[in-house]
Amino acid sequence: MGYSADIVVIGSGIGGLTAAALLQERGFSTITLEKNAVPGGSCSSFKRAGYTFDAGASVFYGFSDNDRYGTLNLHDRIFRKLGIEVPVIPDPVQIHYHLPDAVDIPVYYHKEKFLSGLIERFPREERGIRAFYRELESVHEILSSLPAGSLEDPVHILSVAGDHPSKVFALALKTFRSMGKTARHYVSDKTLLRFFDMEAYSWAVQDALATPLVNAGICLADRHLGGIHYPVGGSGAIPEALCGGIRKFGGKVLFNTEVSEILVTNGKAEGVRLSNGEVITARAVISNATVWDTCNRLLKDTRYRISDDRYHMAPSWFQMFLGVDASIIPDDFNVHHIFVDDWKGYSMPGGTIYLSIPSLLDPTVAPAGKHVFHAFVTDEKNRWKNLQLRKSAYVDAKKAYAATLLKRIEKLLPGLRDAVELDILATPLTHERYLNRYNGTYGAQLFAGQNVLQKPQNRTAVRNLFAAGDSTFPGQGVIAVTYSGVSCASCIARKLGNPLDYL
Ligand SMILES: Cc1cc2nc3c(=O)[nH]c(=O)nc-3n(C[C@H](O)[C@H](O)[C@H](O)COP(=O)(O)OP(=O)(O)OC[C@H]3O[C@@H](n4cnc5c(N)ncnc54)[C@H](O)[C@@H]3O)c2cc1C
Repeated sequence: MGYSADIVVIGSGIGGLTAAALLQERGFSTITLEKNAVPGGSCSSFKRAGYTFDAGASVFYGFSDNDRYGTLNLHDRIFRKLGIEVPVIPDPVQIHYHLPDAVDIPVYYHKEKFLSGLIERFPREERGIRAFYRELESVHEILSSLPAGSLEDPVHILSVAGDHPSKVFALALKTFRSMGKTARHYVSDKTLLRFFDMEAYSWAVQDALATPLVNAGICLADRHLGGIHYPVGGSGAIPEALCGGIRKFGGKVLFNTEVSEILVTNGKAEGVRLSNGEVITARAVISNATVWDTCNRLLKDTRYRISDDRYHMAPSWFQMFLGVDASIIPDDFNVHHIFVDDWKGYSMPGGTIYLSIPSLLDPTVAPAGKHVFHAFVTDEKNRWKNLQLRKSAYVDAKKAYAATLLKRIEKLLPGLRDAVELDILATPLTHERYLNRYNGTYGAQLFAGQNVLQKPQNRTAVRNLFAAGDSTFPGQGVIAVTYSGVSCASCIARKLGNPLDYL
Protein backbone atom coordinates (compact mmCIF):
# COMPACT_ATOMS: atom_id res chain seq x y z
CA MET A 1 0.00 0.00 0.00
CA GLY A 2 2.85 2.34 0.98
CA TYR A 3 0.65 5.07 2.47
CA SER A 4 1.84 7.76 4.81
CA ALA A 5 -0.09 10.46 6.63
CA ASP A 6 0.27 13.02 9.41
CA ILE A 7 -1.82 10.82 11.68
CA VAL A 8 -2.72 7.15 11.44
CA VAL A 9 -5.65 5.95 13.57
CA ILE A 10 -6.00 2.32 14.64
CA GLY A 11 -9.72 1.52 14.84
CA SER A 12 -12.87 3.31 13.78
CA GLY A 13 -14.63 3.36 17.15
CA ILE A 14 -16.25 6.69 18.01
CA GLY A 15 -13.11 7.79 19.89
CA GLY A 16 -10.84 7.18 16.90
CA LEU A 17 -13.22 8.59 14.30
CA THR A 18 -13.87 11.75 16.33
CA ALA A 19 -10.15 12.44 16.64
CA ALA A 20 -9.56 11.70 12.93
CA ALA A 21 -12.47 13.91 11.79
CA LEU A 22 -11.37 16.93 13.86
CA LEU A 23 -7.72 16.61 12.80
CA GLN A 24 -8.62 16.14 9.15
CA GLU A 25 -10.94 19.14 9.25
CA ARG A 26 -8.05 21.15 10.71
CA GLY A 27 -5.88 20.34 7.71
CA PHE A 28 -3.86 17.33 8.89
CA SER A 29 -3.91 14.23 6.71
CA THR A 30 -5.34 11.15 8.41
CA ILE A 31 -5.76 7.46 7.62
CA THR A 32 -8.11 5.44 9.81
CA LEU A 33 -7.71 1.67 9.73
CA GLU A 34 -10.57 -0.61 10.72
CA LYS A 35 -10.43 -4.40 10.82
CA ASN A 36 -14.20 -4.75 10.28
CA ALA A 37 -16.18 -3.97 7.16
CA VAL A 38 -18.15 -1.19 8.90
CA PRO A 39 -17.19 1.68 11.23
CA GLY A 40 -18.24 2.28 14.82
CA GLY A 41 -17.11 -0.70 16.89
CA SER A 42 -19.46 -0.89 19.89
CA CYS A 43 -21.51 1.84 18.22
CA SER A 44 -21.92 0.11 14.86
CA SER A 45 -25.03 -1.39 13.29
CA PHE A 46 -25.46 -4.64 11.41
CA LYS A 47 -28.33 -5.86 9.24
CA ARG A 48 -30.00 -9.28 9.11
CA ALA A 49 -33.26 -10.31 7.48
CA GLY A 50 -34.60 -6.77 7.26
CA TYR A 51 -33.62 -5.85 10.84
CA THR A 52 -30.95 -3.27 11.73
CA PHE A 53 -29.34 -4.18 15.04
CA ASP A 54 -27.22 -1.92 17.26
CA ALA A 55 -24.03 -3.83 18.10
CA GLY A 56 -23.89 -2.03 21.47
CA ALA A 57 -24.96 1.53 22.25
CA SER A 58 -28.48 2.83 21.78
CA VAL A 59 -28.88 5.54 24.48
CA PHE A 60 -27.28 8.68 23.05
CA TYR A 61 -26.39 11.97 24.73
CA GLY A 62 -24.94 15.04 23.04
CA PHE A 63 -27.47 15.75 20.31
CA SER A 64 -29.31 18.75 21.73
CA ASP A 65 -29.20 21.73 19.39
CA ASN A 66 -29.37 24.08 22.35
CA ASP A 67 -25.98 25.77 22.74
CA ARG A 68 -26.64 26.54 26.38
CA TYR A 69 -25.59 22.99 27.14
CA GLY A 70 -22.06 23.79 26.11
CA THR A 71 -19.33 21.26 25.65
CA LEU A 72 -21.54 18.35 26.65
CA ASN A 73 -23.47 18.87 23.46
CA LEU A 74 -20.57 17.40 21.56
CA HIS A 75 -22.13 15.39 18.73
CA ASP A 76 -24.14 18.36 17.61
CA ARG A 77 -21.13 20.67 17.73
CA ILE A 78 -18.86 18.26 15.88
CA PHE A 79 -21.37 17.54 13.12
CA ARG A 80 -21.99 21.26 12.70
CA LYS A 81 -18.23 21.80 12.37
CA LEU A 82 -18.04 19.03 9.77
CA GLY A 83 -21.11 20.39 7.97
CA ILE A 84 -22.87 17.04 8.26
CA GLU A 85 -26.39 16.32 9.44
CA VAL A 86 -27.36 13.33 11.55
CA PRO A 87 -31.14 13.21 11.95
CA VAL A 88 -32.12 12.02 15.44
CA ILE A 89 -35.35 11.23 17.27
CA PRO A 90 -35.81 12.41 20.89
CA ASP A 91 -36.44 9.60 23.37
CA PRO A 92 -38.79 10.78 26.15
CA VAL A 93 -37.57 8.12 28.64
CA GLN A 94 -33.88 7.38 29.12
CA ILE A 95 -34.44 4.09 30.97
CA HIS A 96 -37.38 2.41 32.64
CA TYR A 97 -36.09 0.65 35.79
CA HIS A 98 -37.87 -2.49 37.01
CA LEU A 99 -36.14 -3.30 40.32
CA PRO A 100 -36.86 -5.37 43.43
CA ASP A 101 -38.85 -3.88 46.36
CA ALA A 102 -41.42 -2.36 43.99
CA VAL A 103 -39.01 0.18 42.53
CA ASP A 104 -40.57 0.78 39.12
CA ILE A 105 -39.24 4.10 37.87
CA PRO A 106 -39.17 5.52 34.33
CA VAL A 107 -36.52 8.23 33.97
CA TYR A 108 -38.37 10.86 31.97
CA TYR A 109 -36.67 13.61 30.01
CA HIS A 110 -38.81 15.96 32.13
CA LYS A 111 -36.91 16.03 35.39
CA GLU A 112 -39.86 16.92 37.59
CA LYS A 113 -41.89 14.03 36.20
CA PHE A 114 -39.02 11.64 36.99
CA LEU A 115 -38.46 13.11 40.46
CA SER A 116 -42.19 12.93 41.29
CA GLY A 117 -42.18 9.19 40.54
CA LEU A 118 -39.10 8.64 42.68
CA ILE A 119 -40.43 10.78 45.54
CA GLU A 120 -43.77 8.96 45.42
CA ARG A 121 -41.87 5.71 46.04
CA PHE A 122 -39.59 7.24 48.73
CA PRO A 123 -41.69 10.09 50.21
CA ARG A 124 -39.58 10.50 53.37
CA GLU A 125 -36.47 11.15 51.30
CA GLU A 126 -37.90 13.97 49.20
CA ARG A 127 -35.45 16.62 50.44
CA GLY A 128 -32.46 14.32 50.04
CA ILE A 129 -33.51 13.18 46.57
CA ARG A 130 -33.90 16.75 45.37
CA ALA A 131 -30.62 17.85 46.94
CA PHE A 132 -28.72 14.88 45.44
CA TYR A 133 -29.93 15.50 41.88
CA ARG A 134 -29.32 19.25 42.34
CA GLU A 135 -25.73 18.45 43.28
CA LEU A 136 -25.36 16.43 40.07
CA GLU A 137 -26.77 19.36 38.14
CA SER A 138 -24.19 21.68 39.69
CA VAL A 139 -21.43 19.46 38.26
CA HIS A 140 -23.15 19.58 34.89
CA GLU A 141 -23.44 23.39 35.09
CA ILE A 142 -19.70 23.71 35.58
CA LEU A 143 -18.73 21.21 32.89
CA SER A 144 -21.14 22.58 30.33
CA SER A 145 -19.68 26.06 30.70
CA LEU A 146 -16.04 25.02 30.11
CA PRO A 147 -14.66 24.39 26.63
CA ALA A 148 -13.64 20.83 25.76
CA GLY A 149 -9.89 20.32 25.47
CA SER A 150 -7.06 18.16 26.65
CA LEU A 151 -6.15 17.99 30.33
CA GLU A 152 -2.59 17.34 29.12
CA ASP A 153 -2.47 20.60 27.21
CA PRO A 154 -1.00 23.27 29.53
CA VAL A 155 -2.18 26.09 27.25
CA HIS A 156 -5.77 24.83 27.48
CA ILE A 157 -5.58 24.28 31.25
CA LEU A 158 -4.10 27.73 31.92
CA SER A 159 -6.61 29.44 29.68
CA VAL A 160 -9.62 27.68 31.24
CA ALA A 161 -8.31 28.21 34.77
CA GLY A 162 -7.63 31.87 33.99
CA ASP A 163 -11.08 32.49 32.52
CA HIS A 164 -13.08 30.44 35.06
CA PRO A 165 -11.00 30.20 38.27
CA SER A 166 -13.84 29.54 40.72
CA LYS A 167 -15.47 26.92 38.49
CA VAL A 168 -12.21 25.08 37.93
CA PHE A 169 -11.52 25.10 41.68
CA ALA A 170 -15.03 23.79 42.47
CA LEU A 171 -14.67 21.10 39.80
CA ALA A 172 -11.25 20.04 41.08
CA LEU A 173 -12.75 19.49 44.55
CA LYS A 174 -15.55 17.40 43.06
CA THR A 175 -13.11 15.08 41.30
CA PHE A 176 -12.27 13.61 44.72
CA ARG A 177 -15.87 12.58 45.38
CA SER A 178 -17.85 9.53 44.37
CA MET A 179 -21.51 9.44 43.42
CA GLY A 180 -22.20 6.92 46.22
CA LYS A 181 -20.60 8.96 49.02
CA THR A 182 -22.45 12.04 47.83
CA ALA A 183 -25.75 10.12 47.81
CA ARG A 184 -25.13 8.91 51.39
CA HIS A 185 -24.67 12.50 52.45
CA TYR A 186 -28.26 13.24 51.44
CA VAL A 187 -30.30 10.03 51.87
CA SER A 188 -30.22 6.93 54.07
CA ASP A 189 -32.99 4.63 52.79
CA LYS A 190 -31.20 1.42 51.77
CA THR A 191 -33.49 0.68 48.84
CA LEU A 192 -33.08 4.21 47.53
CA LEU A 193 -29.30 3.83 47.78
CA ARG A 194 -29.63 0.64 45.75
CA PHE A 195 -31.60 2.60 43.18
CA PHE A 196 -28.69 5.05 43.00
CA ASP A 197 -26.36 2.07 42.57
CA MET A 198 -28.44 1.08 39.54
CA GLU A 199 -28.36 4.64 38.24
CA ALA A 200 -24.56 4.25 38.17
CA TYR A 201 -24.48 0.61 37.10
CA SER A 202 -26.74 1.25 34.11
CA TRP A 203 -23.88 2.93 32.23
CA ALA A 204 -20.76 2.58 34.40
CA VAL A 205 -21.22 -1.13 35.24
CA GLN A 206 -19.99 -0.20 38.73
CA ASP A 207 -21.92 0.74 41.86
CA ALA A 208 -22.35 4.35 42.95
CA LEU A 209 -19.45 4.23 45.44
CA ALA A 210 -17.06 3.30 42.61
CA THR A 211 -18.48 5.89 40.21
CA PRO A 212 -16.90 9.36 40.13
CA LEU A 213 -19.32 12.17 40.93
CA VAL A 214 -18.09 14.08 37.88
CA ASN A 215 -19.10 11.29 35.45
CA ALA A 216 -22.44 10.88 37.25
CA GLY A 217 -23.04 14.61 37.00
CA ILE A 218 -22.83 14.40 33.23
CA CYS A 219 -24.97 11.31 32.67
CA LEU A 220 -27.66 11.85 35.27
CA ALA A 221 -28.16 15.56 34.66
CA ASP A 222 -27.72 15.87 30.91
CA ARG A 223 -30.50 13.38 30.18
CA HIS A 224 -32.94 16.03 31.54
CA LEU A 225 -31.20 18.93 29.74
CA GLY A 226 -29.71 17.94 26.39
CA GLY A 227 -31.85 14.80 26.50
CA ILE A 228 -31.52 11.36 24.95
CA HIS A 229 -31.80 10.84 21.20
CA TYR A 230 -31.71 7.96 18.73
CA PRO A 231 -30.13 8.40 15.28
CA VAL A 232 -32.47 7.60 12.42
CA GLY A 233 -31.44 4.29 10.87
CA GLY A 234 -29.61 2.98 13.95
CA SER A 235 -26.47 3.64 15.98
CA GLY A 236 -24.26 3.11 12.89
CA ALA A 237 -25.51 6.43 11.51
CA ILE A 238 -23.12 8.21 13.91
CA PRO A 239 -19.85 6.54 12.79
CA GLU A 240 -21.01 6.62 9.15
CA ALA A 241 -21.47 10.40 9.47
CA LEU A 242 -18.02 10.79 11.07
CA CYS A 243 -16.51 8.80 8.18
CA GLY A 244 -18.39 11.11 5.81
CA GLY A 245 -16.79 14.09 7.57
CA ILE A 246 -13.30 12.58 7.34
CA ARG A 247 -13.68 11.88 3.60
CA LYS A 248 -15.23 15.29 2.96
CA PHE A 249 -11.97 16.92 4.10
CA GLY A 250 -9.79 14.47 2.18
CA GLY A 251 -9.08 11.79 4.80
CA LYS A 252 -9.11 8.04 4.28
CA VAL A 253 -10.96 5.34 6.18
CA LEU A 254 -9.89 1.84 5.17
CA PHE A 255 -12.03 -1.15 6.15
CA ASN A 256 -11.06 -4.83 6.42
CA THR A 257 -7.62 -3.52 7.36
CA GLU A 258 -6.17 -4.81 10.61
CA VAL A 259 -3.13 -3.34 12.35
CA SER A 260 -0.82 -5.96 13.83
CA GLU A 261 1.92 -3.71 15.23
CA ILE A 262 2.69 -0.14 16.21
CA LEU A 263 6.16 0.63 14.89
CA VAL A 264 8.40 2.22 17.50
CA THR A 265 11.98 3.41 17.07
CA ASN A 266 13.93 4.81 20.01
CA GLY A 267 10.75 5.18 22.09
CA LYS A 268 8.92 7.05 19.32
CA ALA A 269 5.94 5.77 17.27
CA GLU A 270 6.59 6.09 13.56
CA GLY A 271 3.67 4.23 12.01
CA VAL A 272 1.96 0.86 11.93
CA ARG A 273 2.33 -2.52 10.30
CA LEU A 274 -0.81 -4.12 8.89
CA SER A 275 -1.59 -7.82 9.29
CA ASN A 276 -0.70 -8.25 5.58
CA GLY A 277 2.78 -6.90 6.35
CA GLU A 278 2.38 -3.49 4.74
CA VAL A 279 3.66 -0.42 6.59
CA ILE A 280 2.03 3.00 6.97
CA THR A 281 4.22 5.78 8.35
CA ALA A 282 2.92 8.78 10.27
CA ARG A 283 3.97 11.71 12.45
CA ALA A 284 1.57 10.50 15.15
CA VAL A 285 -0.36 7.29 15.80
CA ILE A 286 -3.69 7.10 17.65
CA SER A 287 -4.76 3.77 19.11
CA ASN A 288 -8.51 3.38 19.57
CA ALA A 289 -7.97 -0.11 21.01
CA THR A 290 -8.26 -0.89 24.73
CA VAL A 291 -5.23 -0.15 26.86
CA TRP A 292 -4.50 -3.91 27.17
CA ASP A 293 -4.67 -4.43 23.39
CA THR A 294 -2.47 -1.39 22.77
CA CYS A 295 0.20 -2.25 25.34
CA ASN A 296 0.21 -6.05 25.17
CA ARG A 297 -0.64 -6.83 21.54
CA LEU A 298 0.12 -3.85 19.31
CA LEU A 299 3.31 -2.71 21.07
CA LYS A 300 5.83 -5.50 20.73
CA ASP A 301 8.43 -4.17 23.17
CA THR A 302 7.83 -5.98 26.48
CA ARG A 303 8.77 -2.86 28.45
CA TYR A 304 5.33 -1.43 27.63
CA ARG A 305 3.40 -4.49 28.94
CA ILE A 306 0.68 -3.94 31.56
CA SER A 307 -0.91 -6.54 33.83
CA ASP A 308 -4.61 -7.43 33.73
CA ASP A 309 -5.15 -5.64 37.02
CA ARG A 310 -3.28 -2.43 36.17
CA TYR A 311 -6.79 -0.96 35.76
CA HIS A 312 -10.11 -2.39 36.84
CA MET A 313 -11.15 -4.57 33.88
CA ALA A 314 -14.91 -4.24 33.36
CA PRO A 315 -16.77 -7.44 32.44
CA SER A 316 -17.89 -8.39 28.96
CA TRP A 317 -21.40 -9.08 27.62
CA PHE A 318 -23.75 -11.84 26.57
CA GLN A 319 -26.01 -10.28 23.95
CA MET A 320 -29.23 -11.39 22.28
CA PHE A 321 -30.18 -9.67 19.02
CA LEU A 322 -33.77 -10.67 18.41
CA GLY A 323 -36.41 -10.03 15.79
CA VAL A 324 -39.80 -10.23 17.49
CA ASP A 325 -43.43 -9.96 16.49
CA ALA A 326 -44.66 -6.44 17.30
CA SER A 327 -47.88 -7.74 18.87
CA ILE A 328 -45.91 -8.76 21.97
CA ILE A 329 -44.87 -5.19 22.87
CA PRO A 330 -47.55 -2.99 24.51
CA ASP A 331 -48.15 0.36 22.77
CA ASP A 332 -46.91 2.41 25.73
CA PHE A 333 -43.76 0.33 26.29
CA ASN A 334 -40.59 2.42 26.65
CA VAL A 335 -37.55 1.83 24.46
CA HIS A 336 -34.93 1.13 27.15
CA HIS A 337 -35.40 -1.00 30.25
CA ILE A 338 -33.30 -2.33 33.09
CA PHE A 339 -34.61 -5.34 34.91
CA VAL A 340 -33.26 -6.79 38.16
CA ASP A 341 -35.11 -9.58 39.93
CA ASP A 342 -32.79 -9.95 42.93
CA TRP A 343 -30.64 -7.24 44.53
CA LYS A 344 -28.11 -9.81 45.74
CA GLY A 345 -26.84 -10.65 42.31
CA TYR A 346 -27.39 -7.42 40.38
CA SER A 347 -23.68 -6.84 39.79
CA MET A 348 -22.88 -10.49 39.11
CA PRO A 349 -22.77 -11.81 35.53
CA GLY A 350 -26.34 -11.99 34.26
CA GLY A 351 -27.76 -10.18 37.31
CA THR A 352 -28.98 -7.06 35.51
CA ILE A 353 -30.84 -7.36 32.21
CA TYR A 354 -30.67 -4.44 29.75
CA LEU A 355 -33.32 -4.15 27.04
CA SER A 356 -33.50 -1.87 24.03
CA ILE A 357 -36.27 -1.81 21.42
CA PRO A 358 -35.29 1.11 19.16
CA SER A 359 -37.87 0.28 16.48
CA LEU A 360 -40.44 1.75 18.90
CA LEU A 361 -38.84 5.12 18.08
CA ASP A 362 -37.56 4.46 14.56
CA PRO A 363 -39.70 1.95 12.65
CA THR A 364 -37.18 1.91 9.77
CA VAL A 365 -34.91 -0.46 11.72
CA ALA A 366 -37.37 -3.40 11.63
CA PRO A 367 -39.66 -4.98 9.04
CA ALA A 368 -43.34 -3.97 9.20
CA GLY A 369 -45.11 -5.63 12.13
CA LYS A 370 -41.82 -6.54 13.85
CA HIS A 371 -39.49 -5.04 16.44
CA VAL A 372 -35.73 -5.08 16.94
CA PHE A 373 -35.09 -6.41 20.42
CA HIS A 374 -31.60 -6.13 21.94
CA ALA A 375 -31.18 -7.75 25.36
CA PHE A 376 -27.84 -8.05 27.14
CA VAL A 377 -26.23 -8.92 30.46
CA THR A 378 -22.68 -8.71 31.76
CA ASP A 379 -20.68 -11.91 31.34
CA GLU A 380 -17.18 -13.36 31.68
CA LYS A 381 -15.09 -14.84 28.88
CA ASN A 382 -13.77 -17.65 31.09
CA ARG A 383 -16.99 -19.58 31.30
CA TRP A 384 -17.25 -19.74 27.48
CA LYS A 385 -13.60 -20.37 26.62
CA ASN A 386 -13.57 -24.15 26.96
CA LEU A 387 -17.02 -24.62 25.49
CA GLN A 388 -15.71 -23.07 22.31
CA LEU A 389 -13.53 -26.12 21.72
CA ARG A 390 -16.60 -28.11 20.65
CA LYS A 391 -18.88 -26.08 18.39
CA SER A 392 -22.09 -27.94 19.25
CA ALA A 393 -21.45 -27.55 23.00
CA TYR A 394 -20.88 -23.81 22.52
CA VAL A 395 -24.05 -23.36 20.44
CA ASP A 396 -26.13 -25.43 22.88
CA ALA A 397 -24.83 -23.46 25.85
CA LYS A 398 -25.66 -20.16 24.15
CA LYS A 399 -29.21 -21.34 23.40
CA ALA A 400 -29.74 -22.67 26.92
CA TYR A 401 -28.51 -19.41 28.51
CA ALA A 402 -30.64 -17.32 26.16
CA ALA A 403 -33.70 -19.38 27.15
CA THR A 404 -33.13 -18.63 30.85
CA LEU A 405 -32.80 -14.91 30.14
CA LEU A 406 -35.92 -14.84 27.94
CA LYS A 407 -37.86 -16.59 30.68
CA ARG A 408 -36.82 -13.86 33.13
CA ILE A 409 -37.70 -11.10 30.64
CA GLU A 410 -41.14 -12.67 30.26
CA LYS A 411 -41.95 -11.20 33.69
CA LEU A 412 -42.07 -7.89 31.80
CA LEU A 413 -43.27 -9.17 28.43
CA PRO A 414 -45.34 -12.35 28.78
CA GLY A 415 -45.24 -14.59 25.72
CA LEU A 416 -41.93 -13.17 24.48
CA ARG A 417 -40.36 -16.58 23.74
CA ASP A 418 -43.09 -17.48 21.25
CA ALA A 419 -42.78 -14.10 19.53
CA VAL A 420 -39.08 -14.46 18.61
CA GLU A 421 -38.65 -15.07 14.87
CA LEU A 422 -34.88 -14.40 14.62
CA ASP A 423 -32.14 -14.74 17.21
CA ILE A 424 -28.44 -13.96 17.04
CA LEU A 425 -26.57 -14.79 20.23
CA ALA A 426 -23.18 -13.29 21.07
CA THR A 427 -20.90 -14.23 23.98
CA PRO A 428 -17.83 -12.42 25.36
CA LEU A 429 -15.83 -14.42 22.81
CA THR A 430 -17.83 -12.79 20.02
CA HIS A 431 -17.27 -9.37 21.55
CA GLU A 432 -13.54 -9.99 21.84
CA ARG A 433 -13.24 -11.31 18.29
CA TYR A 434 -15.45 -8.72 16.60
CA LEU A 435 -13.97 -5.68 18.31
CA ASN A 436 -10.42 -6.84 19.17
CA ARG A 437 -11.18 -6.07 22.80
CA TYR A 438 -9.12 -8.11 25.28
CA ASN A 439 -11.45 -10.57 27.08
CA GLY A 440 -14.32 -8.74 25.36
CA THR A 441 -14.11 -6.19 28.19
CA TYR A 442 -16.38 -3.16 28.39
CA GLY A 443 -13.17 -1.29 29.12
CA ALA A 444 -10.68 -0.06 31.68
CA GLN A 445 -12.16 1.53 34.76
CA LEU A 446 -10.96 3.14 37.96
CA PHE A 447 -10.86 1.23 41.21
CA ALA A 448 -13.23 2.51 43.90
CA GLY A 449 -11.72 5.53 45.63
CA GLN A 450 -9.52 6.63 42.74
CA ASN A 451 -9.75 10.20 41.47
CA VAL A 452 -11.36 10.50 38.02
CA LEU A 453 -8.19 12.26 36.84
CA GLN A 454 -6.25 9.01 37.44
CA LYS A 455 -7.88 7.57 34.34
CA PRO A 456 -5.31 7.37 31.50
CA GLN A 457 -5.34 10.49 29.32
CA ASN A 458 -4.43 10.60 25.63
CA ARG A 459 -0.64 10.53 25.86
CA THR A 460 1.08 7.17 26.32
CA ALA A 461 4.49 5.91 27.41
CA VAL A 462 5.56 6.02 23.75
CA ARG A 463 6.27 9.41 22.19
CA ASN A 464 3.90 10.27 19.32
CA LEU A 465 1.57 7.41 20.29
CA PHE A 466 -1.77 8.66 21.57
CA ALA A 467 -4.90 6.87 22.77
CA ALA A 468 -8.59 7.63 22.27
CA GLY A 469 -11.63 5.63 23.35
CA ASP A 470 -13.03 4.16 26.49
CA SER A 471 -9.69 3.21 28.07
CA THR A 472 -8.98 6.93 28.36
CA PHE A 473 -10.55 9.79 30.31
CA PRO A 474 -13.46 10.17 30.89
CA GLY A 475 -14.45 6.51 30.19
CA GLN A 476 -17.19 4.31 28.74
CA GLY A 477 -20.12 5.58 26.71
CA VAL A 478 -20.41 7.14 23.29
CA ILE A 479 -20.41 10.74 24.50
CA ALA A 480 -17.47 9.99 26.82
CA VAL A 481 -15.33 8.50 24.03
CA THR A 482 -16.33 11.43 21.84
CA TYR A 483 -14.82 13.68 24.51
CA SER A 484 -11.69 11.53 24.51
CA GLY A 485 -11.49 11.93 20.72
CA VAL A 486 -11.79 15.70 21.05
CA SER A 487 -9.10 15.90 23.71
CA CYS A 488 -6.83 13.51 21.77
CA ALA A 489 -7.18 15.61 18.63
CA SER A 490 -6.53 18.82 20.61
CA CYS A 491 -3.41 17.36 22.15
CA ILE A 492 -1.98 16.22 18.79
CA ALA A 493 -2.94 19.38 16.90
CA ARG A 494 -1.16 21.51 19.53
CA LYS A 495 1.92 19.28 19.38
CA LEU A 496 2.03 19.41 15.58
CA GLY A 497 1.79 23.18 15.61
CA ASN A 498 -1.76 23.89 14.43
CA PRO A 499 -4.05 23.91 17.50
CA LEU A 500 -7.77 23.24 17.12
CA ASP A 501 -10.32 25.97 17.75
CA TYR A 502 -12.68 25.23 20.60
CA LEU A 503 -15.88 23.55 19.45
C1 LIG B 1 -23.74 -3.96 24.82
C2 LIG B 1 -23.30 -2.53 24.93
C3 LIG B 1 -24.24 -1.53 25.14
C4 LIG B 1 -23.84 -0.20 25.24
N1 LIG B 1 -24.79 0.77 25.38
C5 LIG B 1 -24.42 2.06 25.38
C6 LIG B 1 -25.40 3.09 25.34
O1 LIG B 1 -26.60 2.81 25.28
N2 LIG B 1 -24.98 4.39 25.32
C7 LIG B 1 -23.64 4.71 25.32
O2 LIG B 1 -23.31 5.90 25.29
N3 LIG B 1 -22.69 3.76 25.34
C8 LIG B 1 -23.05 2.45 25.34
N4 LIG B 1 -22.10 1.48 25.29
C9 LIG B 1 -20.67 1.87 25.38
C10 LIG B 1 -20.14 2.45 24.09
O3 LIG B 1 -20.69 1.77 22.98
C11 LIG B 1 -18.62 2.34 24.08
O4 LIG B 1 -18.07 2.86 25.29
C12 LIG B 1 -17.98 3.11 22.92
O5 LIG B 1 -18.70 2.93 21.72
C13 LIG B 1 -16.54 2.62 22.76
O6 LIG B 1 -15.91 3.37 21.75
P1 LIG B 1 -14.36 3.31 21.48
O7 LIG B 1 -14.01 4.52 20.71
O8 LIG B 1 -13.62 3.07 22.76
O9 LIG B 1 -14.09 2.08 20.53
P2 LIG B 1 -14.71 0.66 20.15
O10 LIG B 1 -16.18 0.75 20.04
O11 LIG B 1 -14.11 -0.40 21.00
O12 LIG B 1 -14.14 0.51 18.67
C14 LIG B 1 -12.81 0.22 18.43
C15 LIG B 1 -12.69 -0.14 16.96
O13 LIG B 1 -11.33 -0.42 16.68
C16 LIG B 1 -11.25 -1.56 15.85
N5 LIG B 1 -9.93 -2.16 16.08
C17 LIG B 1 -9.43 -2.58 17.26
N6 LIG B 1 -8.18 -3.05 17.09
C18 LIG B 1 -7.89 -2.91 15.78
C19 LIG B 1 -6.74 -3.21 15.00
N7 LIG B 1 -5.66 -3.78 15.54
N8 LIG B 1 -6.77 -2.93 13.69
C20 LIG B 1 -7.87 -2.36 13.11
N9 LIG B 1 -8.98 -2.08 13.80
C21 LIG B 1 -9.00 -2.34 15.13
C22 LIG B 1 -12.39 -2.44 16.30
O14 LIG B 1 -12.77 -3.35 15.30
C23 LIG B 1 -13.47 -1.40 16.58
O15 LIG B 1 -14.23 -1.13 15.45
C24 LIG B 1 -22.47 0.13 25.15
C25 LIG B 1 -21.52 -0.87 24.92
C26 LIG B 1 -21.93 -2.18 24.80
C27 LIG B 1 -20.89 -3.22 24.53
